Amino acid sequence: MFPEIGKSGVAGVLLGLLVLAMPGWAGEDFVIGGARVKSGSRASGTLAVPAKDGAGTEIPYTVIHGAKKGPVLALVAGVHAYEYPPILSLYRLKDMIDPKTLRGTVLMVHIANLPSFKKRTIYYGPDDWKNLNRVFPGDIGGTMSQRIAAVLNEEVVKRADVLVDMHCGDGNEALIPYTYWMISGEKRLDAKTRELALAFGLTHIIIDESRTKDPKDSKYLGNTAILQGKPAITTEAGFLGRVDEESIGRNVQGVLSVMRHLDMISGDPAPAADPVWIDKYEVVYSKHDGLFAPRVEMGYFVRQGQIVGTITDYLGAWKEDVKAPFTGILLYIIGTPPCNAGEPLFEVGRVKEK
Ligand SMILES: [Zn+2]
Repeated sequence: MFPEIGKSGVAGVLLGLLVLAMPGWAGEDFVIGGARVKSGSRASGTLAVPAKDGAGTEIPYTVIHGAKKGPVLALVAGVHAYEYPPILSLYRLKDMIDPKTLRGTVLMVHIANLPSFKKRTIYYGPDDWKNLNRVFPGDIGGTMSQRIAAVLNEEVVKRADVLVDMHCGDGNEALIPYTYWMISGEKRLDAKTRELALAFGLTHIIIDESRTKDPKDSKYLGNTAILQGKPAITTEAGFLGRVDEESIGRNVQGVLSVMRHLDMISGDPAPAADPVWIDKYEVVYSKHDGLFAPRVEMGYFVRQGQIVGTITDYLGAWKEDVKAPFTGILLYIIGTPPCNAGEPLFEVGRVKEK
């Protein structure tokens, strides 16, 4: 009997090798939210966010499950749902990526925060007025934002090998394109994340050592992935609720370049050739409710102590001249009048000396 078993074993291995070598090899299904996606195919659906107090929601996604083996790349748009260029870029990329030639799997979240998208809110979800990108890893028994975060963590972060959390200036923010390179302290992971940040191709990269190291209070989506040992970046390209082609294109090209860097599609990545590295940043928050008038445009250089904008109250009376905390680049500044105590006015980044 032994020779018989040996023969069939050899035949099995040969058959296996043949199947592996065949184009369009039918690999394992990709499973998400109870759905199964066959290799070499594309499928769209929604992830259910359970209802509580009568309100639930869903998260629209697309899976492009390649015919060939490779990493699982999660692309998440709409954590802040008034940030439109990343959202629109994924709808374009969905049809551009061919599952027959793709190596690995692309898992796209089209609009992470659908309640916010529908109600057109900035920063916060309309059900609980929490910032989705401050409540990770979430709580499936918590408020709407916490439940969305919990579903994203279970269904997206845990299934991914690499994650890109795609943002831009919110509906009220004038912002220049940049990427957060979040430092974990683990050299190998940080080296991979650095490559990822370069591959996305945006001209400014923030070296970000400020993120919490507590997996139970990871706060940010990208940081949640990093604390699970997965390379992740947060990208920012687009501003002020606009849907301009330049910003959408930056997001499309960034994703394609990352996919080339990961060898998921053919071609050479187009990394940022000579990025501006930002080694310190500070968000300046408003101390008052009122109206903010910027005096400096996004991307401009400001000196320590320079007046960046002025706050007036609802009667038009002067409240404060808000100054730059140190010398650097204005990465973003709010571009619409409302300002509220405790909310951001602008972010200054210090340029790293070479
Ligand atoms: Zn955002």
